[in-house]
This record gives sequence, structure tokens and C-alpha cells, in this order.
Amino acid sequence: MDEKTTDPAEIVIIGAGPGGYAAAFLAADLGLDVTLIDPNKNPGGVCLYRGCIPSKALLNASRLIREADAAGEMGIAFTKPKIDIHKLRSWKNGVVTKLTDGLGRLGNQRKIDYIRGKAKFKGNHILDVHTVENGTRELSFQHAVIATGSQSAELSGVDHGSPYILDSEAALELEDIPKKLLIVGGGYIGLELGTVYASLGSKITLVEITSGLLPGVDRDLVRVLRKPLDRLFETIALNTSVQDLKILKNGIKATLKGLDAEATQKRFDKVLVAVGRRPDTKDLGLEVAGISVNSKGIIKVDSQCRTTADNIFAIGDVAGEPMLAHKASHQGRVAVEVIAGRKSAFEPIAIPAVVFTDPEIAWAGLTEARAKEMGIEFQTVRFPWAASGRAMTIGRTDGLTKLLLEKQTERVIGVGIVGPHAGEMIAEGVLAIEMAANTTDLKLTVHPHPTLTETVQEAAELFSGTATHYFSPNKAGHRNP
Ligand code: NAD
Repeated sequence: MDEKTTDPAEIVIIGAGPGGYAAAFLAADLGLDVTLIDPNKNPGGVCLYRGCIPSKALLNASRLIREADAAGEMGIAFTKPKIDIHKLRSWKNGVVTKLTDGLGRLGNQRKIDYIRGKAKFKGNHILDVHTVENGTRELSFQHAVIATGSQSAELSGVDHGSPYILDSEAALELEDIPKKLLIVGGGYIGLELGTVYASLGSKITLVEITSGLLPGVDRDLVRVLRKPLDRLFETIALNTSVQDLKILKNGIKATLKGLDAEATQKRFDKVLVAVGRRPDTKDLGLEVAGISVNSKGIIKVDSQCRTTADNIFAIGDVAGEPMLAHKASHQGRVAVEVIAGRKSAFEPIAIPAVVFTDPEIAWAGLTEARAKEMGIEFQTVRFPWAASGRAMTIGRTDGLTKLLLEKQTERVIGVGIVGPHAGEMIAEGVLAIEMAANTTDLKLTVHPHPTLTETVQEAAELFSGTATHYFSPNKAGHRNP
């Protein structure tokens, strides 16, 4: 991209992940002079280089292995797959390169000044860029957007430099397929990468410190996922923590302790630590720019994504939960619209979340727990996928579509789906919530047959007492099957 002049940039964006590049592209489209700073060769950030995209590529490959195995039931027998890990790795890397090169081209077409380096504020209108090629360069700016994302949280007292201890980024490198893999943390990453490695042949032991997988997600959805996970993983230990990880010559000895159990020691080839992420704000010089963070290091922002420094904005993971790429992109566009003088604010009613396990879990709007916390009176209706013809044809009746409805208005305030393709299906739920749809709206919306999306319509029908494919003896009243 073009070399930068010394004139103040109208807008500097620090970090080129899905938040930063979405902001940069919109700013350029709105006619602003944009500088985008990131150490990677092209835009993409953790999501494209070392997160969402490589993990979904590997999840897709691992799905094929499971589906080939399951095809036996249909009378189609495959021999055990031979996994060429080098080819799989380079295919996954190829997906990443195609996408990130494409983003580089999109930036060039928009005449964005892309600087490979790391930025550090020297004041609220000036920063230093430590460039990958030429040392340090000073840059003045009118507005800045901080989009530096997050990094894996570490376990205290653990040697995270050991080649046997992986974070999600190292696990996605797919260096080898460990025979025995310990996963610490039963959240998004532990379950998604556990699914990948288990399908490739690793024996997985997963420990989760709380009493359930995916804390915060409605239990009825997690229950559906638990059964296949129990088949896929060797052990899932809840209420269990890691007391010690001792590095051996060729692996790790882990001391695990359950709630009311004696501590046990087990040997593993590798350990994946997936205990959450923390905002990446270190070495940004936030104090000199007058930018405040909270006790967790999250940058404080208002509804327009503005920090405590008037001309500096923060978006995405650095601005707090949920740490999801699509939230970052949305905030990035809001920040740029505000900078461009438009009336804009970050105020979605529903931000969808998807865990790309098998089956997938997706939800949007309020969970049951959150609705209770907020004191909202609601009713639920669940449509089981055993009653879906489409689910039957793909051999996957292990799904559930759930609606949370405000009691008074029957408005949709939450949608939860577990099942294959739940991540694609949840978009309808988001739209329903954002458009304040009620059960009648969902019922009267003609859904294509035969598709899994019909379960949304039938859930709404069931709420009113009668759904075509689910016999409900209590037709007069609302039911929770
Ligand atoms: P997470 O917050 O989803 O899960 C961390 C899990 O680790 C929790 O269940 C927690 O109780 C457990 N835990 C914490 N300390 C522990 C300990 N000492 N021992 C055992 N368990 C412990 O975090 P993650 O899985 O690391 O993912 C980080 C974030 O990245 C997610 O919250 C999400 O925002 C994002 N992410 C999203 C996707 C997606 O959208 N599909 C995928 C991957 C990551």
C-alpha cells in the first residue's frame, strides 16, 4: 500500500482484525483518509490468521471424518481415513492466505495506508509505530480507533513457553496429533478444538472448573451437545481444576483435582489451555492518551464506542464482552460513522453467539438465566428435531429449537438452537428479535420445506397449541414439551 505522508491522518485504526478492517474499509468508503496499522502482512487479525477461520476449516475437515463414519448406518461404508497432517495443515493455511490476501487487495483498492507495525500512543493526537521493516515512525492523527483484540488468558504457575502447553493459536498450527490431549476449559475453544483433535484421533480429557460446560448457555441446549461429546471425548471432568502441570521429557504430568475427590496424576502428550481471553491493551500507552481501562483491562467506552479521550474510540474485544468478531465489526462501523459525523450508536438488541461443535449451539437475545436475572416474565417453547423431516433425512434428529417469549406480548426475546447448522439458522432469530416479531409473525412466515428452518415456525405454532408435526394434546393452552 502507499507510503504515508507526514500530514495528520484523518483516522488511524490500530489493529486490522474483523473490527479494525471493517472500520477502515467503511471509513475509506465514506471518503476519509485512513491509516490502518497491524503487524501482520495483510488485514485479518486473530480471527482470520489464528482463530475463527482456521478453526472452522479444521472443524469442517473433522466433520467429514465423523460423517464418513456415520454413513455406515445408510449402508455406505468407508475405510478408516488416512490423515495426511501436512496436507491438511497446508489446506487450512491456504484458506487463511486466500482470505487475508483478499483483504489486502480490498484495502489497496480503497487506497488505505496499511502500515505493518505496532502502535503506541505518545499523546491523544500522536503515536509511534514500531514498524516491522524500518524501526520507529511517528504519526499524528485527528481520530483513532483501537481494535487490538485480545489474547489467551494463561494459567498462573504454568510454563506457557513449553512446547507441550498450547494455547488456541498454537493448537491451530496443527503441528501433530497428540495421542493424549488434556484440555483445560470447557468453553468455546475447549469444545471446538476438542472436537477437531478427537476426530483426528486424539484421546481427549477435558477439565472444566465450573459445574457445567459452556457456562452461561442455557442448560437444555448444552444437554443435547453433551451426549455426542461424551462419545467423542474420553473424559469430561466437571468441577475439576488443574493443580499442577509438570513438564516431562516427552509430555506433561498433570495433577487434577475434582471437587470432593482426591487429586489424581495423569500423563498427557500435550495440554491445551483454553480458559478465556483478556483484552490486548498492553504497551499501547493508553495512559498518556487519557484513555481509562477498568480493573480487567477493558477500555471504557460509551454507546458510540468513544473512550475517555474524545477523539479516540475502542471497539471489539478491547472494549469488552462478548468477544466475538461480528460484534467487533459492528462496533467498528459505528465508531467510523460517529467520526464521519453521522448519528450512530452501538445498540443491538441481540448479538448472536455460535459454538461450532457437533451439533452446533447458537443463541441470540436473552438466555433463560439472563431473563430471570432481569426479572422479565417469559414463557418458553421447545420444538424437538425428532419431529423434523429434514433432520431425519440428514440423520441428525439430535436438535432442539427454543423460543423465549415475553409473557404479555408473546414477543420473541430469545432464541436458542442446538443442532447441525444452528449457526446458520440463528440469523432468523436475530432478525425476529431485532424486528420485535411475535409468535404470530413467525407462524405466518412461510418457511421452505424440507429445511431445518421449519423448526422455528413450528416452535411458534406449537406455542399457540398446534404444530403440524408435533401432536400436542393440550391444544387450548401454551405448552412446554
Ligand atoms: P470461554 O470463556 O468460552 O471458556 C473458558 C472456560 O474455561 C470456562 O468454561 C471456564 O469456566 C473455564 N475455566 C476457567 N478457568 C479454568 C481453570 N483454571 N480450570 C478449568 N477450567 C477453567 O473461553 P475460551 O474457550 O478460551 O474462548 C475465549 C473467547 O473466545 C470466548 O469467550 C469467545 O468470546 C471467543 N471465541 C468464540 C468462538 C466462536 O464464536 N465460535 C470460538 C472460540 C473463541
